[in-house]
Amino acid sequence: MKASRMLISTLKEAPNEAQIPSHILLLRAGMIRKLVAGVYNYLPLGLKVLNKIENIIREEMDRSGALEILSSAVQPKELWEESGRWYKYGPELMRFKDRHDREFCLGPTHEEIFTDLAKNLVKSYKTLPVNLYQIQTKYRDELRPRFGLMRGREFIMKDSYSFDLDEAGLEESYKIMYDTYKRIFDRLGINYKIVLADTGAIGGNGSHQFMALSEVGESNIVYCDDCHYAADEEKAIAVAEIAEDEALLELASVDTPKQKTIEEVSSFLNISPKKVVKAVCYRETTNNETVIVLVRGDREVNEIKVINALNTAEAFFRMATDEEIIEIGCIPGFIGPVGINAKILMDQEVALMKNMVTGANAKDKHLVNVNVGRDFNATVIDCRNAVAGDRCPVCGKEMKVERGIEVGQIFKLQTKYSSAMDCTYINQDGKNVPMVMGCYGIGVTRTMSSIIEQYHDEFGIKWPMNIAPYHAVIVPINYNDVEQSKLANNIYSQLLGTKVEVILDDRDAKPGFKFKDWELIGIPYMIICGRRSVEGIVELKNRMTNEKVEVTFEEAVKVVKEAVNNI
Ligand code: ATP
Ligand code: MG
Repeated sequence: MKASRMLISTLKEAPNEAQIPSHILLLRAGMIRKLVAGVYNYLPLGLKVLNKIENIIREEMDRSGALEILSSAVQPKELWEESGRWYKYGPELMRFKDRHDREFCLGPTHEEIFTDLAKNLVKSYKTLPVNLYQIQTKYRDELRPRFGLMRGREFIMKDSYSFDLDEAGLEESYKIMYDTYKRIFDRLGINYKIVLADTGAIGGNGSHQFMALSEVGESNIVYCDDCHYAADEEKAIAVAEIAEDEALLELASVDTPKQKTIEEVSSFLNISPKKVVKAVCYRETTNNETVIVLVRGDREVNEIKVINALNTAEAFFRMATDEEIIEIGCIPGFIGPVGINAKILMDQEVALMKNMVTGANAKDKHLVNVNVGRDFNATVIDCRNAVAGDRCPVCGKEMKVERGIEVGQIFKLQTKYSSAMDCTYINQDGKNVPMVMGCYGIGVTRTMSSIIEQYHDEFGIKWPMNIAPYHAVIVPINYNDVEQSKLANNIYSQLLGTKVEVILDDRDAKPGFKFKDWELIGIPYMIICGRRSVEGIVELKNRMTNEKVEVTFEEAVKVVKEAVNNI
């Protein structure tokens, strides 16, 4: 391809809203352009990369025995009513009506569609197991679309759904996908960790997330180097810290004027935050119930764990308003469990505390020497976030925390959708039984961003060979110089028609300008034809290492060809 024909759209500066490297570089390298918030056009170079990522995913999915299909982004409300998600999904679901007032949504995921398909296509046990997948565009009206392709409102996902005879079959299908995902992310060159993930209402250890390690990740991975326990923060558990044993003291009320936060109260009373209880009020909106959640003062509430304990969904769960807090007899800023007739959940560590400090449910007052059992009772759950330094639940060693980007998730759905949507088959005994399902997602466009997060420097992107938009670019320092342009064209014609995807920079521009473009775009090899073109000598630059060597043009051609053959 000749650079003059490529509509190269590199930018000196990225718009201010781009904050993280991948977002900045995707825009600056002319890979994508924003249409509206969270929605992007993929330009020629960006699309080439995207297609290569998709093909690696496709090859590995095909190799696993999964079958590719393509379904529509448009999904009818009826199927979402069958699964019960039309009301549960909340405002992220993009809904619309047709001219006949029939309701639809743009699919954020496709469980309903695939379950309905399997219900129609599979009749007997003989056709199971089956795993169907697609690479397709999803829509989610994210509250905060940001970071470019990381969190879009429109994005591309590889989603697949397995249908099995029974639990044992699901285990096998799940294992196959687990291994397939490892192969995919290995081939994509991603540095990742596999972690246990939250499974919400379904429960069990039925989900894993694939996390690309990165500072800009939105997930915290809690892990143990010693025994390899690793879990998403939403799910991670840790050994509860046992509070010091001490004699129970008499309950008393103390004045704490204007002291509301844990920091204010602990420094006012000159005690450790570990002696204070953090009380947070939530509202569960299906039962219209206000719930008090207690964690130790230095801890954070893990809302996902609370949601699971209440057996509800995120869409039906929020912070309680001041009015709702007052309604159950509490005072915002001075909330406490003593004397309150409401649902109270306390973290395991609170259950172990002695002589704690809580809000007194009276303005400017706290209670000291509060004790569980004597002064209040509550349901004990694990509802705190695990943090670095906490003890591993498997081996007891200190755990670490690292940030990660969720690039994929696999999930044992069991019969959640098949039971709700009557997706059954006739088994060997002639009985109608629900298929046992798994679902498996990869954020394809998010993966593209994640690769850039792991492969870039101050000059631009450093694409690994197997996903680079082109493998090599030939850059004559001065295209108007006869010798240089002759050698450049000679190399170009030697590489055209081979497996090497090559660019000839035939633009009439300053060399520095051209070099900057290719470094920004991240082409793995640059073959520079300069002063020694007459002798057939070129400079070969490797973008991954930024090393430059002078070699004969034949040698440069050989190196590039070999690198492509080794993909
Ligand atoms: P998140 O927690 O980041 O919102 P999710 O768990 O809701 O993601 P899944 O339903 O598991 O997402 O979707 C499968 C994959 O699709 C995710 O692992 C992620 O890589 C990708 N993905 C999800 N939401 C987005 C988005 N808004 N933009 C880009 N990719 C996304
Ligand atoms: Mg997920």
